[in-house]
Amino acid sequence: MKAIILAGGRGTRLAALRSDIPKALVPAAGKPVLARQLEMLRREGIRDVTLVCGHLAQQIRDYCGDGEAFGVRIGYCTEAQPLGTAGALFHLDLREDFLLLNGDLVFDVDLGSMRDFHTRSRALATLFAHPSTHPSDSTWIGADAAGRVSAFCRADERPAFAHNLSNAGIAILSPELLRRCTPRVPMDLDRDVLRPNVDSGRIFAYRSYEYVKDMGTPQRLCEVERDLAQGIPERRQKKRPHAAVFLDRDGTLNVFKGYISEPDAIELIDGAAHAVRRINEKGYLAVLATNQPVVARGACSPEMLDRIHCRLEALLGEEGAYLDGVYFCPHHPDKGFAGENPLYKTDCDCRKPKPGMLLRAAKELNIDLSASYMVGDAQTDVQTARNAGCRPVLLTENADEPVPDGTQVFANLLRFADSL
Ligand SMILES: [Mg+2]
Ligand SMILES: [Zn+2]
Repeated sequence: MKAIILAGGRGTRLAALRSDIPKALVPAAGKPVLARQLEMLRREGIRDVTLVCGHLAQQIRDYCGDGEAFGVRIGYCTEAQPLGTAGALFHLDLREDFLLLNGDLVFDVDLGSMRDFHTRSRALATLFAHPSTHPSDSTWIGADAAGRVSAFCRADERPAFAHNLSNAGIAILSPELLRRCTPRVPMDLDRDVLRPNVDSGRIFAYRSYEYVKDMGTPQRLCEVERDLAQGIPERRQKKRPHAAVFLDRDGTLNVFKGYISEPDAIELIDGAAHAVRRINEKGYLAVLATNQPVVARGACSPEMLDRIHCRLEALLGEEGAYLDGVYFCPHHPDKGFAGENPLYKTDCDCRKPKPGMLLRAAKELNIDLSASYMVGDAQTDVQTARNAGCRPVLLTENADEPVPDGTQVFANLLRFADSL
């Protein structure tokens, strides 16, 4: 697979730091982001790279040369005038599926797995997708459980209830996708290539918690440098077992109000979003694990529960925090009540304190349970932690609350997150 890197970025938002060099050559922790990208591509077995340059192109040529120093072969496509994010693709002889990469990303991704997904899905385009720490200026993706994209839009066009999922700037595209488009100048990848083809049903989102972050603003560059210093990109590799923080919902993230059956009832506890952000930043996976028998009672449909979780994700997103996984148990074992939903009246294996949700998450997200925490405000959460083989954390301010052996106690989620 060939890679095309869009390295023509002017770095307007970084200009306060460096206006004399192109964005792709701005150093992140002492090394230009483009050098990091070339090294990553080589690690992933990609040898053929085309750099699309515009602004300050000569500096990029001088720095990268023919690529030999990076163990790759580099060709150049220099735009005399900006052709847009997809314009150059129509000037290259592309006969096979190729990787398209924004030039301002620091990433550590198993591209072979992404390509396997792309091939299996028979996709025209596969977009690396993840929750955004800045959803208000990220391209939003709506996708089903298989990853099939149903909507793709700017943040301000998002539906009212949307999961936090956004386009990270790494895609695998097929030449067939380009043939379906009418070239124009400028040609925007999102607006002119991807969106018009969503209805084909062959645009896919590849969800992953692997590390991808742009350093396009001074603040994000700072975050990338902090992450590199802490080894976060490596820690988020797929092949590594991950430490997770499993989070109870009601009374842990949001204010306890009994059964919650509509999105507006979600009100974050003070400091909870900040705490989740800390968990994110420290390299733990943040995974929701909540009992919601309200579904079995018939007081809330599965669709409404999904909206409630969209609301929760949106509130967290406003403070730069996100969940890597959302697991819920909609069941309850006791039958025979008026209005109940018999589909969910079952003695399942996921209702806490049973460990089913945690075991499933561990399998799907490659989590090392013994290195993980289950945090909640109830004894059930402590018992769940023990049943799943992870570390119990009880949130309580009540000095009389019994504390089982081996349980850590904190007044609230933020105190716990600070202790990590
Ligand atoms: Mg609770
Ligand atoms: Zn269940």
